[in-house]
Amino acid sequence: MRYVIIGAGVAGFAAIESIRSIDKTGEVVMVSDDPHGFYSRPGLAYYLTGEIDSKALYSRSKDDYRHLNFSFLNARVKRILRAEKKLELDGKPALAYDKLLIAVGAQAIPLNIAGAKLQGVMKLDHLTDANDILAFTKRGRTAVVVGGGITALELTEGLLARGMNVHYLLRGDRYWSNVLDARESQAVEARLQEEGVTLHHHVELAEIIGKNNRVAGIRLTDGHTIKCDLVAYAVGIAPRIELANECGINCERGILADEHLQTNDENIFAAGDVAQVYDPLTGHSVIDSLWNPAREQGGVAGWNMAGRRAAYLKSAPFNVTRLAGLTTTIIGSVGRGRDEDVMGIARGDSETWRELPEALVAQGGFDVNHIRLLIGDKRLIGAVLMGDQKLSFPLQKMIANGADISPIRDSLMQPNAPVADLIADFWMKWRENIAA
Ligand SMILES: Cc1cc2nc3c(=O)[nH]c(=O)nc-3n(C[C@H](O)[C@H](O)[C@H](O)COP(=O)(O)OP(=O)(O)OC[C@H]3O[C@@H](n4cnc5c(N)ncnc54)[C@H](O)[C@@H]3O)c2cc1C
Repeated sequence: MRYVIIGAGVAGFAAIESIRSIDKTGEVVMVSDDPHGFYSRPGLAYYLTGEIDSKALYSRSKDDYRHLNFSFLNARVKRILRAEKKLELDGKPALAYDKLLIAVGAQAIPLNIAGAKLQGVMKLDHLTDANDILAFTKRGRTAVVVGGGITALELTEGLLARGMNVHYLLRGDRYWSNVLDARESQAVEARLQEEGVTLHHHVELAEIIGKNNRVAGIRLTDGHTIKCDLVAYAVGIAPRIELANECGINCERGILADEHLQTNDENIFAAGDVAQVYDPLTGHSVIDSLWNPAREQGGVAGWNMAGRRAAYLKSAPFNVTRLAGLTTTIIGSVGRGRDEDVMGIARGDSETWRELPEALVAQGGFDVNHIRLLIGDKRLIGAVLMGDQKLSFPLQKMIANGADISPIRDSLMQPNAPVADLIADFWMKWRENIAA
């Protein structure tokens, strides 16, 4: 039996761990076009700011790799030949498979304007991109960042930490408006301004101006120009569905996979950012662009590839991230629908967050410590925590397990309710009941 995994991301790696937990002897081959292998993509933000070095992006040791007993092939997969059960590789002989996992992730949606191909127009998908950005910051002084979501902010902070003057362009009236509420966006923006970022609202990039094939500035649709040496963009991501599409695997926005992570070809599975996975609990197929779901999906795909029938049960998506220095946890459905700054989905984002929940809102605290709860009939539907993270774990558990919060619901809804205290007290009792 030969298992082939396309993609050296967390989904691919988790699949190998699962396969090996069942099948100790089958051959496992990982193929990736990224010469840097498996590393933490969320960690790239901290690498950009200089808080960690590139070694810290790697969580696995040589022993871990040896133990998993797989081979790594640095090559780009050009085509999947389903009839022959083979992969056509760029510059290397074709590779046969018995079971195949497509875990090729997603990529930044390119800017579709004049000048987008100039040197100095940057994105942040891979370690190579981060290194390119770092090399550029040594040459230039002023950067323009475009886009909403986590990655645009990470680019802003990375460039700032490297001593650049940063202009941050937002099409709408506030930062990440589909996930954060107005006060949360304002808290983030206030901190960015304190750090020296120049924010521009209600603006749209019309053109990147070049000189000698390099970025020299930008022009906005209202005619204003800003001189700059670098343009960094994060306007959304697109799952890399081309390989699957070309060989007749069913795709919508992502590769359609059932709860076993199987596609419409019984020998081909999909997991991670590229997959649009069926959720038997809601009956919807959704895309998460988050590290944890990618790891869990990869793990479940690996089991199924190796013959153990297992289902991936999506739990309330959550992410702990840092927004302009504010540690922020987002859990469940918290959003307001569309965001003018993000096309489709952003990195570190979940389609579930952006659902418009039928829920009442309870808020507590501000500005450094803030909690927002989305409250349904009996359950918590979502939560946003900024600053103090003491309630992050309890809220994750309560939302994921659908804790019945009826006993404190009315109290939570009172004006100026001590939301954090009510949740903390409830959690202690709820945890004891669950344990009993
Ligand atoms: C800057 C940044 C910040 C992030 N922040 C967060 C965060 O705060 N929280 C969070 O939960 N998530 C975050 N994410 C998202 C998270 O990293 C992804 O959800 C996760 O890495 C997805 O894993 P994956 O295995 O599906 O795909 P990926 O990690 O994208 O791996 C895909 C792999 O496939 C390879 N590949 C693609 N096409 C081919 C081909 N044709 N042939 C061969 N190989 C190919 C790629 O080279 C790569 O090795 C962030 C991502 C980035 C980039």
